[in-house]
Amino acid sequence: MIPVARRITAVGAVCALGAALAACGTSGPARQAPARSTVSVSPSPARPPVLAPGPGGLTPVFEHGPRTRGKTVAFTFDADMTADQGPRAAAGEHFDNPGLIAALRALKVPATVFMTGRWAEQYPAEARDLGHDPQFEVANHSWSHYAFTADCYGLPTVDADGMRADVQRAYTSLRAAGVPHAMPYFRFPGGCYDQRSLRRLSGLGVTAVQWDVVSGDAFATDADAVVKQVLDGVKPGSVVVLHCTRSAAPTTERVVRTVVPELRKRGYRFVKVSELIDQADGQR
Ligand SMILES: [Zn+2]
Repeated sequence: MIPVARRITAVGAVCALGAALAACGTSGPARQAPARSTVSVSPSPARPPVLAPGPGGLTPVFEHGPRTRGKTVAFTFDADMTADQGPRAAAGEHFDNPGLIAALRALKVPATVFMTGRWAEQYPAEARDLGHDPQFEVANHSWSHYAFTADCYGLPTVDADGMRADVQRAYTSLRAAGVPHAMPYFRFPGGCYDQRSLRRLSGLGVTAVQWDVVSGDAFATDADAVVKQVLDGVKPGSVVVLHCTRSAAPTTERVVRTVVPELRKRGYRFVKVSELIDQADGQR
């Protein structure tokens, strides 16, 4: 179920996120001097749309956009790097995938990248590049890529007390790498979450973003099988999960180069997750 998104709540939620990351409204809007509220020194970026929190402020979860508002699809790319994989990167393993990003640019496919803080620290130039390119939006995939539930594909787990800090640390790393406006969207490592983890992240202002189409690109060696899975799975409003890690998802660039023209032929328009969340405004 998708909770109803409300713009006013969204603004409050983003402010809450900002408060968690830096100073957000330290004096409160009511105490602002009137002159300051009427003088715009520089245009501030539009508030990203988010879903309204659930009961008790529970972190909302987004899985896909509306099915009846046209053929839109959002490709999401997880930039995974687990906290303990530094030595593997130092030994030459590539957790980045510049060829894939180049393909997305050549094909003009807007996309949302869920980046771990650890990845941003390993590849700061690429993180900054993505963070400054309006074709992409960069969102949070935790700092450590440790699991937020007990049993999640063998990933090490984050203590319940450390969940919030792990998400905040990722935002700090993204900003330090040069991503100026990371989105208030969080993807749980492995997509694993439960009520406890949603509660632990309450008040941060993030919308948890899952998906409705698993591309199957992780550890895939058969690009054709991944292509088929994506094409069979996509429906209007779909969110597709893919990866931008060469070592763990070596076929993804080929998959994208095949799937994108085919989906366009079928009438699909590529959008970022924020647009689907925005479309969800007022739904259900
Ligand atoms: Zn991941």
